[in-house]
Amino acid sequence: MAQMRVAVIGAGLTGLTCASRLMRAGMDVRVFDKGRGLGGRLASRRLENGLRFDHGATYVETDDPAFLRTLEFVCARGAGTRTAWESGEAKYVGLPGMSSLVRPLAEGLPVTRRAQVTAIDWVQGEWRISFEADTVEERVDLVILTVPAPQAAKLVSAYPTLTSALEAVDFDPCWALLAAFDGATTHSGGDAALPETLSKLSVESDKPGRGSGATCLVAHASPDWSREYLEDDRQAVAERLLAEVRRACAGASATPSYLSAHRWRYARTSTSLARPYLTSPDGRLFVGGDWCLGNSAEHAHASGSAMANAVLEAVSVRRRAS
Ligand SMILES: Cc1cc2nc3c(=O)[nH]c(=O)nc-3n(C[C@H](O)[C@H](O)[C@H](O)COP(=O)(O)OP(=O)(O)OC[C@H]3O[C@@H](n4cnc5c(N)ncnc54)[C@H](O)[C@@H]3O)c2cc1C
Repeated sequence: MAQMRVAVIGAGLTGLTCASRLMRAGMDVRVFDKGRGLGGRLASRRLENGLRFDHGATYVETDDPAFLRTLEFVCARGAGTRTAWESGEAKYVGLPGMSSLVRPLAEGLPVTRRAQVTAIDWVQGEWRISFEADTVEERVDLVILTVPAPQAAKLVSAYPTLTSALEAVDFDPCWALLAAFDGATTHSGGDAALPETLSKLSVESDKPGRGSGATCLVAHASPDWSREYLEDDRQAVAERLLAEVRRACAGASATPSYLSAHRWRYARTSTSLARPYLTSPDGRLFVGGDWCLGNSAEHAHASGSAMANAVLEAVSVRRRAS
């Protein structure tokens, strides 16, 4: 197995779940991500003054035993914690931020960041992976692509059956507001009393391990609102969303000490693939992500695990046959 070179594209939960499993099975795995950090939509922003915001997933929860085992492993490594939320259900958050949840999975893996893949071509018996900017071309035997379906479709255009399946998957966008207020204020989190323009309001500073003296809020705009203002200027969107937050909680009337917005063009799946991954007829290319099975971290984990199992099974079948 050590001879098979595998490239995993995407260092989110799907990619790192798959890559870590293959590495532990003895495969030569390398991971590439266009971002500066790990975690993809398990995203955290840390300001110079130490304030933190999870502007992607707020927390994760699951009743999938395999994902629970992974989360407990992550917690045992100090990168996450189990917490009871306002509803009383157990939820997991990363420490010190949501992106930390994937950190233990990346241990020992060669991960190249700021490496945006622009093409994947099968040439003379191997994959050639091209990147934007300076990263040199990679040559591997197997590619596992774990980016959102619309982005994956652009990279696998040589496989019409894959592209047509990918084009059937839909995503909702999401504008996220990040706002900090000096000192403790009286914001009440919870999504129950939100105006319909907002789908979530999270008091980030109330999460474990975030204490900072300031109140940090993340608000997610609804899919309809996000779609309407998708191409608008970031700062204008932040101001508009702040007005929406103020309608929801009086405590946010103070002038924020920090205000920004983040646009997720592909935030959450609205129509999933309804199977755990796609593969090319020759079995040399796998495509997966949360969007295969749903719109949550547990679906990303399930897709990444299923691809790793399929690759290991194919390798062992080939071994037995040779
Ligand atoms: C606003 C928001 C709120 C959410 N709330 C929750 C929640 O409360 N609970 C929950 O369970 N889930 C939530 N989710 C969903 C959860 O974040 C995702 O299901 C999960 O993180 C998806 O993981 P993934 O690895 O499949 O994809 P991603 O995390 O998107 O990872 C894909 C990676 O591929 C990289 N990439 C893309 N294109 C390229 C390229 N060309 N070259 C190289 N790299 C590339 C990206 O940089 C990214 O790191 C939320 C998501 C958003 C956006």
